[in-house]
Amino acid sequence: MRDEIAIFREFVRMKGLRNTPERETIIREICATRDHFDVDELYLRLKRKKKKISKPSIYRLIPLLLEARLIQEAYFEEGHLHYEPIYGREHHCHLRCLNCGKTIEFTEEFLDKLETKLAEEYDFVIRGHKLEVFGYCSKCKLHI
Ligand SMILES: [Zn+2]
Ligand SMILES: [Zn+2]
Repeated sequence: MRDEIAIFREFVRMKGLRNTPERETIIREICATRDHFDVDELYLRLKRKKKKISKPSIYRLIPLLLEARLIQEAYFEEGHLHYEPIYGREHHCHLRCLNCGKTIEFTEEFLDKLETKLAEEYDFVIRGHKLEVFGYCSKCKLHI
């Protein structure tokens, strides 16, 4: 967790931005679990811990964390994006159940090969990809 804070401090320094204790509190909370989260959930988690953090300050921090590659967009649900901490983790994509919301993380070597192929074919410098696969999980498929 200390690593993420150090990276963020370096990131804001390089960008000439301002860091605040509030921002570090938010980052600590995000990295406390490896869970996927959205802004509302994160806000409630902080509130339960009696941290005085406003929702707008979370909204303002998210793009910075994305840019610093400390979090990634995970999937879109209930009309908004969900994120997850990714520092020190292998890249992965998600299978989402449309019925119960279950999320399965997967990595697939084929996707890395696809990146290489696309990079060559389109002379493109690839920095990442996001693949969201949706359908019904093993339990829910029995009821559709
Ligand atoms: Zn399901
Ligand atoms: Zn994930």
